[in-house]
Amino acid sequence: MGTPTAGTLSTTVPPGTDAPVVVDARGVARTFDGRGVLHDVTLQIRRGEFVALLGRSGSGKSTMLRILAQLDTEHDGHLAVPTRRAVAFQDSRLLPWARVLPNVLLGLKDAAGRARGEALLAEVGLADHARAWPKTLSGGEQQRVALARALARDPELLLMDEPFGALDALTRIRMHRLLRELVSRHSPAVLLVTHDVDEAVLLADRVIVLTDGRLSLDEQVDLPTTGRRSDPGFTALRSRL
Ligand code: ADP
Ligand code: MG
Repeated sequence: MGTPTAGTLSTTVPPGTDAPVVVDARGVARTFDGRGVLHDVTLQIRRGEFVALLGRSGSGKSTMLRILAQLDTEHDGHLAVPTRRAVAFQDSRLLPWARVLPNVLLGLKDAAGRARGEALLAEVGLADHARAWPKTLSGGEQQRVALARALARDPELLLMDEPFGALDALTRIRMHRLLRELVSRHSPAVLLVTHDVDEAVLLADRVIVLTDGRLSLDEQVDLPTTGRRSDPGFTALRSRL
């Protein structure tokens, strides 16, 4: 990912992009006990693209993310996602009985993967904490370990569900900077689920909005370009939530 640029609020891929599609979801629908939670969601993400999925609480964001992660396969519609994918959640989900580095290396068998995991722990600034227990780390540090663990798998697709939602505002800003660095260095495609308009605009190349389980396909709204909170792009986005 490069510097944040203005994108469009759209479910279509921005014009001029010819990178291959790595996520192809068409007409995805999910019901729980007969109640529709996702309706006809169509979404493509291209290689290296950073997409934010914005929506109110209860709009179906986590349901969509779980489907893209193939943690939930009980959906209708067509879905193609890369096999090399990694997920990060709001809670770091580190294994409490394993130290930090083993958490990052979990499941990585070959020497190259392990070297990558060690390098990533250093990239998130926690090389000195390799032998620490997860519970001795702050919330922000635990999320940094979770990011290192995710990227150690060299994912083609990184899925994140409100990964910074439980952090204080200053730690969140640091995490935004770190995530931008890591994504520009490792270039996975990213789908970041968030209900934070500013976070979505700051981080993503493209912002899509889920409202009551639907992506609106019919509208394109310019994203804020100035970074000022009074920018009409912010107002337009906020009015969608
Ligand atoms: P969001 O992440 O946008 O807050 P969710 O995807 O978690 O929204 O939930 C969307 C809707 O689906 C909510 O009404 C929620 O109660 C419902 N839902 C999610 N998971 C389940 C489940 N396993 N069983 C029943 N209802 C669910
Ligand atoms: Mg959620």
